[in-house]
Amino acid sequence: MNMNISFEFFPAKTEEGAAKLQTTCTQLAERNPEFFSVTFGAGGTTQDGTLNTVLGIQRMGHEAAPHLSCVGASREKIRGLLNTYRDNGIKRIVALRGDLPSGTMGTGDFRYASELVEFIRAETGEHFFIEVAAYPETHPQAKSPAADVEAFVHKVKCGANSAITQYFYNPDAFLYFRDQVQNRVNIPLIPGIMPITNYSQLARFSDACGAEIPRWIRNRLQHFGDDREAIRSFGLEVVTTLCENLIREGVSGLHFYTMNNAQPTLSILDALGY
Ligand code: FAD
Repeated sequence: MNMNISFEFFPAKTEEGAAKLQTTCTQLAERNPEFFSVTFGAGGTTQDGTLNTVLGIQRMGHEAAPHLSCVGASREKIRGLLNTYRDNGIKRIVALRGDLPSGTMGTGDFRYASELVEFIRAETGEHFFIEVAAYPETHPQAKSPAADVEAFVHKVKCGANSAITQYFYNPDAFLYFRDQVQNRVNIPLIPGIMPITNYSQLARFSDACGAEIPRWIRNRLQHFGDDREAIRSFGLEVVTTLCENLIREGVSGLHFYTMNNAQPTLSILDALGY
């Protein structure tokens, strides 16, 4: 089957976490992903964490793409990071606005990811393959769903090569969004896939990022309580069916939010036959 797979990690915070991430990377690499991406948290240490993690993945012989968020950052700082990435042979970047901690005012040079995409193109030409974010269920801070679609189209026209979506469990949201943009932008729209393994963590993330857990899924997960095996098995079934629907609808890739764990993603890929 002709479909690209990619996997997302976050930088490990401990030596133990870093060792586990290496094992996770080795296990997932067997599925021949197009690339691994590494998130870039706001503030301090994780910025180095992203670079070190990306370099580690590269040393293991795989393509690695750092996420780069711009909110609160100066042009000078982003220029420095771009140079570092280019000097280290990085060819792909996931360009994001990012989120400032609540209560913080943005004092940086960039307001939106579109400005970062523009800046990357102005500074480095076509060196980087640029991925951007998309929101089938609308970004929570958007003025309106229509304004969010316009902002996405504008961001792509600033120079993005491909887009990865926020995770969702309702394929109709993705298909509707795709219908709205596909005649206006000519880039792949890759669904972001979040395996379901832990209800409270998923509910927390989903509240924070505005992703909906449909009622029929939420109800069941809540009733499983501490029964991790029941959550795992139901989650696998739901997410595999979601992926099957998306593949049937012709998506050209799937991007997995692995949460640095190989097994939940591997189980889905096994079920899909990848
Ligand atoms: P933008 O595209 O700039 O959009 C942000 C908001 O501004 C939207 O509401 C949009 O409608 C609005 N907007 C955009 N342009 C305009 C305009 N010209 N006028 C008015 N409104 C406008 N966050 C991290 O901190 N680190 C990560 O590593 C990270 N990785 C992610 C990976 C993926 C695949 C996804 C989907 C998200 C990721 N995020 C990450 C979260 C992301 O940073 C947040 O969702 C953030 O709030 C928005 O980022 P964006 O790049 O989509 O922003």
